[in-house]
Amino acid sequence: MKTQLASGRVRSRARTAIISILGASSLALVAAPASAQAGGGVSANDGGGSGGHTFPVRGRHTYGDGFGAGRGHKGQDLLANCRKDVVAARGGRVKVVDYEAGGAGNYVVIRGKRTGRDYVYMHMLDRIKVRRGERVQTGETIGLVGSTGSSTACHLHFELWDGGWYSGGRPLDPTRRLRRWDRSN
Ligand SMILES: [Zn+2]
Repeated sequence: MKTQLASGRVRSRARTAIISILGASSLALVAAPASAQAGGGVSANDGGGSGGHTFPVRGRHTYGDGFGAGRGHKGQDLLANCRKDVVAARGGRVKVVDYEAGGAGNYVVIRGKRTGRDYVYMHMLDRIKVRRGERVQTGETIGLVGSTGSSTACHLHFELWDGGWYSGGRPLDPTRRLRRWDRSN
C-alpha cells in the first residue's frame, strides 16, 4: 500500500514504519462532533479513569501514528515488541476474526459490552486466541503483537468505532482514551 503515499512520506515515516490502510478509505476523515472528541458524557463507561477499559498492549510500548496522520489513518498505532500480549481494551462479543493480506493482517473486532462501540485490533500474529461469537473479558488476551498485513514493524493498530466497524459506525480518535487507560493500568 506504499504506492498510495508520496515516496518522501514513506521515507519520513520509516521509523514508525506503520502503514495500514483498509478499504473504504474515502470514509477516512469523518468529522467527529465535539461531544465525541471530548470523550465525556457519551456513556457511563466513558467517564474518568479507565471506565471499565484497559490498555490493549501488555508491556513496554510507544505511540506511533495517530488518528488521521495525513492519510486517513483510522486509529492509533501502538509500537511494541512482537509477541507481546494484545488484550481486549473492553470485554464484549467477538464480531470478526479475519485476515487481510494487503491491510489489516490478522485482525479482530469486538463489540464492547454496553458501549455500543467496536474495538478493532490489527496486524497481530496468526495465533489469534478468540473465535467469532465468543465473549471475552476486559483484559483477556486476544492475540499477540505482530506485523502481518500492510505493516513494516511490530505494532498494534487500534481503532475505536462509535457503532459498527464499517457497518453504520464511524471511527473515533482513540488516542486520549488510550492514554487514560494506559495511566490507569
Ligand atoms: Zn495504524
